Amino acid sequence: TRTPLIAGNWKMNLDHLQAIAFVQKLAWSLDDAKHDFDAVEVAVFPPFTDLRSVQTLVSADKLSLAYGGQDISQHESGAYTGEISGAFLAQLDTKYVIIGHSERRTLHGETDEIVAAKTKAAIGHGIVPIVCVGETSDDLEKFGPSAVPVAQLKVALEGLKPGADMVVAYEPVWAIGSGQAATPEQAQTVCAALRAVVSEALGADAAAATRILYGGSVKSGNIAGFMREPDVDGALVGGASLDVAEFAAIVRYQK
Ligand code: 13P
Repeated sequence: TRTPLIAGNWKMNLDHLQAIAFVQKLAWSLDDAKHDFDAVEVAVFPPFTDLRSVQTLVSADKLSLAYGGQDISQHESGAYTGEISGAFLAQLDTKYVIIGHSERRTLHGETDEIVAAKTKAAIGHGIVPIVCVGETSDDLEKFGPSAVPVAQLKVALEGLKPGADMVVAYEPVWAIGSGQAATPEQAQTVCAALRAVVSEALGADAAAATRILYGGSVKSGNIAGFMREPDVDGALVGGASLDVAEFAAIVRYQK
């Protein structure tokens, strides 16, 4: 059985002061609602400059909230101006890291090979990678629903050994920030195909244990439909994760 994961990708929003206020409010809101974090895991993904503040708050208040980075360097250390290594993230008790988000792929030239190297770097530092894949609307027209995400994930998993905790996020590029989410059926089709890729690369046990998230215009009004699908184990939420009440409502999709 896989514990559902609701993950909020803040992207380049909320500075470290805003992050502290946001996390406090979110924790209060979920606490008031008696949210069971063992039943539905919750994670936030602030900008790098917020992580130390979030760590301090989470440890001081013993919050059950997890947090992660939005990117990681494939390198260990050295002359890589602007990059953040897995060692630094691990020092801040960072549980997760988002890898290969479509914005990194399109705006920062991240290839499938870089995504694979970053995935290895995360696992090497004991950080759980959230490997993002997804097709553009052109891809969808030309190749159908699963071909591009499947091809992306195959490369990302090359050379990995079974055993490491890993999360996959299916984020169709056409659904990100567009208000036009995939249907639950569309998400299920691709997530099932992605689980088959994990099975082929890492074995049936890994496939059964790996959480596969859907992302792209997830809101409190559509989350329940996605979560009913057998191969959708959670959501990677962008815009709607920046509003405490809305994000808390997504986390409490069963209510
Ligand atoms: P939106 O939820 O704003 O569509 O963004 C999705 C996303 O990119 C999460 O990583």
